[in-house]
Amino acid sequence: MPTVAVVGGGVTGLTAAWALAQVGIEVILLEAGDRLGGVIRTDRLDGVPVEAGPDAFLAGDALVSLCSSVGLEEDLISPDVFGAYIWSGGRLRRLPPGVVLGLPAWPVQALREGLLSPIGALRAAAEVLVPGPLRGGDVSVGALVRRRFGREVLEGLVDPLMAGRRAGHTDDMSLQAADAKVDGLARSHRSILLGIRRGRRSGELSGEPPPFLAPRGGMERLVDALTRSLRGRLGPGCIRTGALVTRVSSRREGFTLDLQGNGPLDADGVVVCLPAPQAARVLLGLSGDASRELEGIPFASTAVATFVYPPASCVLPPHGSGFLVPSSEGRALAACTWYSVKWSASAPADGGIVLRAFVGRAGIDPALSLDDDGLAALLERELGDALRPTAPPRLAQVTRWEDSLPQYRVGHPARVARIERALEGHPRLALAGAAYRGSGIPDCVAGAEVAARRVLNALAP
Ligand SMILES: Cc1cc2nc3c(=O)[nH]c(=O)nc-3n(C[C@H](O)[C@H](O)[C@H](O)COP(=O)(O)OP(=O)(O)OC[C@H]3O[C@@H](n4cnc5c(N)ncnc54)[C@H](O)[C@@H]3O)c2cc1C
Repeated sequence: MPTVAVVGGGVTGLTAAWALAQVGIEVILLEAGDRLGGVIRTDRLDGVPVEAGPDAFLAGDALVSLCSSVGLEEDLISPDVFGAYIWSGGRLRRLPPGVVLGLPAWPVQALREGLLSPIGALRAAAEVLVPGPLRGGDVSVGALVRRRFGREVLEGLVDPLMAGRRAGHTDDMSLQAADAKVDGLARSHRSILLGIRRGRRSGELSGEPPPFLAPRGGMERLVDALTRSLRGRLGPGCIRTGALVTRVSSRREGFTLDLQGNGPLDADGVVVCLPAPQAARVLLGLSGDASRELEGIPFASTAVATFVYPPASCVLPPHGSGFLVPSSEGRALAACTWYSVKWSASAPADGGIVLRAFVGRAGIDPALSLDDDGLAALLERELGDALRPTAPPRLAQVTRWEDSLPQYRVGHPARVARIERALEGHPRLALAGAAYRGSGIPDCVAGAEVAARRVLNALAP
């Protein structure tokens, strides 16, 4: 029976292992840390489950069927509120519903909310006059939006939605990788605005809030359910924590994996489910070209601070689950979620208010060099400016995620194609994870399933 090693025990590695386990081969999952789940972690704070990393995933067939296959189908819940605000000019302003990549289908709505000045809204509306469509290779989100919609749309709407959430910079962010839909619209329509409106009318582009889901009780339940199912199917030895893979090298018809502090492991196939910098290191001996290209995908660091405020101490605006902050505001805070409003099932019993604050801007964010107390104090001040709580938080916790958010720079899809070409000579090895075709959990799950299939096909007699 062939053995496949899966390297990395985040959601990508767990999904790849589960996909491989369905066909009755031997699977060994190797995770460097002492816990599984990677950036998915649910803590207990003030008596309730609170996420330290992701708090939901976009509902899609692959993910819902993965949840069903591990017995979570009855336990998926949606956020209690949708909608977002933008903190700009000292006020929280409602983000018009149905924006695509931050581009307003009707600039006048953003004008009404105070998100664009009259001149900014006029400039955005004049997009229909800018010559198009887009031709040639990949461009940056910043270059496209600035040229077609003007600076205000870029800085006030697109930056907080795209760059803020991904700790990136719109001026080097690949449009093709960041939003293939908008890239497609820019290439197929003379005007993106008209393309969005046409897409809305035909139903191709939804104006509805995207359907997010999470397991009741926290995201870590997905990790636990996958782990339990894997052990149930393959036996307890199929998962090894504390197993840091330092090198993958090829041997006749298969691979040898070197493990730090442990003997080597032979496998007939390998699925590498690591962030790009780690994947670059372990694959250096196998393919220098793939390794160099992987090194060219930078990962940014981020931190999440969770605050619990006393009951009734903050008045949170209705119809929203949080706010985003444009980089041009010069704040450390990139976004804030009103967690106990968004997930009322996880609200403290006494009505305490849970807020999650996100930090991490493009490049090296000076806020991240503060120690935990300093960072919490800075974020508390900034939250105070935005929400004017009447009492200080009764609890604060900072979680740091080093090198956790991949940066898709201009030309990213072509780089991914080069990596895959460089590894073509090793059909029994596949890569999956946030570094390649989308960093959301559904993208990671889809990538893991494709990678598992590639290795299985190559192993098939
Ligand atoms: C703060 C934050 C919030 C997010 N919010 C959302 C959200 O709400 N919704 C959403 O869809 N996505 C969200 N994402 C993105 C998504 O969570 C991640 O892209 C995804 O979970 C990555 O999973 P992964 O398994 O590919 O990588 P990781 O979770 O990074 O796991 C990689 C694993 O590999 C292990 N490892 C590293 N090196 C080695 C080695 N040499 N040998 C063995 N093991 C090794 C690590 O210890 C780790 O466990 C968020 C990400 C962050 C950081």
